[in-house]
Amino acid sequence: MRLEGKVVIITGAASGIGRASARKFCEEGAIVIACDLNEELLNSLAEETKDLPGEVIPKRLSVTDREAIKALVAEIKDKYGRIDGLVNNAGITRDALIQKMSEEDWDAVINVNLKGVFNMTQFVVPVMIGQGYGSIVNTSSVVGVYGNIGQTNYAATKGGVIAMTKTWAKEFTRRGAKIRVNAVAPGFIKTPMTEKVPEKVIKMMEEKIPLKRMGEAEEIANVYLFLISDESSYITGQVIGVDGGLVL
Ligand code: NAD
Repeated sequence: MRLEGKVVIITGAASGIGRASARKFCEEGAIVIACDLNEELLNSLAEETKDLPGEVIPKRLSVTDREAIKALVAEIKDKYGRIDGLVNNAGITRDALIQKMSEEDWDAVINVNLKGVFNMTQFVVPVMIGQGYGSIVNTSSVVGVYGNIGQTNYAATKGGVIAMTKTWAKEFTRRGAKIRVNAVAPGFIKTPMTEKVPEKVIKMMEEKIPLKRMGEAEEIANVYLFLISDESSYITGQVIGVDGGLVL
């Protein structure tokens, strides 16, 4: 198994890409601390994965709640003595052209997609530094590199995630620590986040994508798995596009 016994936190684990990842990590023997706001979906995930080799531990947690994150990290450290991996996957959209974007929608997206990644990492990384190793995966987007009409807030966060990834890849390897930090930039993926996209837009997008289809959540989970596992031991500070060639 590729993650046997590894303790890994995944945020946004109840749905879409996070859920596919929690399941996959569990198949590969990991102890997955599955964090999300949606307790019901987290519980169904734990139920669905109970016969797999690893374990899914559901935790209701907002990545915006610094006190709760601090308490969770202390609890994991007490119980397992280490945190091998962190996948900062939770994300939301609140789309509008800038003229119509409310300050509330700007703040909401920044708080979850950007500050949430900062919050989780700030509390988890001291544990990784203490143990001398770890792997962090941050979820960006093709939108963070190329922009997208109607997504000023979302694009700003996803671009920010790339900047934090590169900064941390340098910062977390000081004094011999072997903490790798990489980002994944998904393209257009079939999840609840994209389920309301009109059929016409989907057709248009699929025409533009060289592989001529939307991606599956599992295809992003495969890359998270590779980056959290030791198979990617010489990769850090990278942004891996998983987009069917969309941004070529
Ligand atoms: P999704 O909506 O299916 O899942 C996101 C999950 O994050 C949900 O379960 C939600 O409850 C959770 N979440 C939201 N706010 C949270 C908070 N404050 N604390 C903890 N959890 C919270 O979406 P998805 O498509 O699986 O998205 C996963 C990640 O991939 C996101 O960061 C998203 O921006 C990114 N992404 C998705 C696509 C796509 O096409 N679906 C493309 C590029 C990037």
